[in-house]
Amino acid sequence: MAIVEVAQLVKEFDSGKVRAIDGVSLATNEGEYLVLLGPSGCGKTTLLRTIAGLEQPTSGDVLINGQVVTALPPRARQIAMVFQSYALYPHKTVRGNIVFPLRAAKMAPAERERKTTWAAELLGIGHLLDRKPRQLSGGEKQRVALARALVRDPQVFLLDEPLSNLDAKLRASARDELKRFQQEVATTTIYVTHDQVEAMGLGDRIAVLNNGTVRQVGPPTEVYDDPADTFVATFIGSPPMNLVPNDGKLVGFRPEHLLPASVVGADALQVKLAVDRMEYLSGDRHLYGTATGAGEKSRVIARLPATVTSEVHAGETYDFAINRNRLRYFDASTGLRTQP
Ligand code: ADP
Ligand code: MG
Repeated sequence: MAIVEVAQLVKEFDSGKVRAIDGVSLATNEGEYLVLLGPSGCGKTTLLRTIAGLEQPTSGDVLINGQVVTALPPRARQIAMVFQSYALYPHKTVRGNIVFPLRAAKMAPAERERKTTWAAELLGIGHLLDRKPRQLSGGEKQRVALARALVRDPQVFLLDEPLSNLDAKLRASARDELKRFQQEVATTTIYVTHDQVEAMGLGDRIAVLNNGTVRQVGPPTEVYDDPADTFVATFIGSPPMNLVPNDGKLVGFRPEHLLPASVVGADALQVKLAVDRMEYLSGDRHLYGTATGAGEKSRVIARLPATVTSEVHAGETYDFAINRNRLRYFDASTGLRTQP
């Protein structure tokens, strides 16, 4: 197990024209599953590659267990990275792929064999050892890539969007497997994704990135319930948090907290909701409409869970309400969280 840390990391490309990482400081806990979540192009892959030693930072440091490793080559860092594309050798068998790093490390043949079998069994690919990558499904390739990373006994796993090549159904089961696998090996893992559902499901903590900076780091419940700024508030959650302008502030509330007044306590903030469209998704009703409250009109989305059985129709106006303790406030110019 290990603690990975980056300190004031900056990474520029094209002689400074592109600043992919713009001053990131971040540390894992021992054995933690830390998820880096952010939109495409925000610097996730660059951050992982810099931690792995595949990129040299422009400034700042990478530390493992408190030791600065910034100048060390990748193989001296005991870090295993699994790439988005899996990067398997197409002409080698599954066995050949898994054993490759052990051969390169000049491990004795019997020990190599033992490790390969162990990793293959752990990942449920023991029956595929003689196949070539092209004879494998996306999920199986992913497991081979993980097995190849695992045999090296890394101190740290870096996983770059490992589920992005799988279809939606397979992704859910693969996510579950990845989590159980990580709990079993208890190796510190940094997992990169642009998918908030993956991040919420997998992460002990989530670091939300945008434009090469960390916007917030915290457990999934914290980044969801108490977003640090309007970027986090709207990037996490589907539909995103409602943000309603009021007195130089933005008042934020989650769609599932805008509910029929009859199911919310009496001291709640009262709102008239004119519903113009309704979507039915996974048992919930998503209502799109215009809310009028405290004299202001705004576009909002309400999400009624299946447990709320009130009849609602598009084209009608209803009494809705929001518990005041669900309201969050943001500075309208900086977007940062602020007081009421
Ligand atoms: P993400 O993985 O979050 O999608 P990346 O780390 O791949 O983002 O990229 C972050 C930014 O850095 C992007 O603007 C990308 O175009 C740029 N970038 C990444 N690698 C290079 C490179 N080798 N040369 C120039 N620009 C790069
Ligand atoms: Mg990437």
